[in-house]
Amino acid sequence: MRKKLVAGNWKMYGNLVENEQLLSAVIAGLNGLRDAQVAVCVPYPYLPSVQNKLQHTHISWGAQNVSQYEKGAYTGEISASMLNDFGCHYVIVGHSERRTLFGEDNRTVAEKYLAVQRAGITPILCVGETLAQREAGTTEQIIEEQLAAVIDLAGIETLSKAVIAYEPVWAIGTGKTASPQQAQDVHAFIRKKVAVQDIDIAKELTILYGGSVKAGNASELFAMSDIDGGLIGGASLVANDFITICRAVHN
Ligand code: PEP
Repeated sequence: MRKKLVAGNWKMYGNLVENEQLLSAVIAGLNGLRDAQVAVCVPYPYLPSVQNKLQHTHISWGAQNVSQYEKGAYTGEISASMLNDFGCHYVIVGHSERRTLFGEDNRTVAEKYLAVQRAGITPILCVGETLAQREAGTTEQIIEEQLAAVIDLAGIETLSKAVIAYEPVWAIGTGKTASPQQAQDVHAFIRKKVAVQDIDIAKELTILYGGSVKAGNASELFAMSDIDGGLIGGASLVANDFITICRAVHN
């Protein structure tokens, strides 16, 4: 059966005190949900304290970005093996904020995906179209190009140890959510594209939806047959909302 996952993306929010309070509340709120696959992807400096807090719980942790390089004179960069030192289970790659604000193109995202894979960490690969691309009718073409860049570089077999997050750019942090059917259509398209190359990997591939998932809309999104959970931004910073969303995926 496909793994269901809810991953929080804290973005550039939090501090030591707030993180401690948030995680304490989330740990308490998820108590008893033993099968739950829940993760938080946190800013780099907080990895040691988050690792310390979560290591004996059922909640995993990870990072939001990584360098495509293994080591070298790359001032300010963080390698995948460094993330390994802090027990990261996941690394988000290709988030639309990285693509748009920091100029990451499909090739760079694919290189980062590969670096994460090589370190034995699970990449959460984000794909998604802008509003202009959706309105121009090119959603599928954009998603296909984003996927192809990764598959061509890293190989289809690497998707057996990866998670894909469909995140329409127009829905991230905007309060606009894709309708369950809109999201389902793109998830089914992604699965179909992977199935053309490897049907077994496609069946087992966890595909998350991200884009203004809230406590109030999570259940209807997660009820769709190809939606295997969520990548949650804003709502992952509010303990009760995040707990409700995590519970929704397991209902
Ligand atoms: C995200 O950052 O990946 C995201 C989906 O954000 P939000 O839930 O705030 O739209």
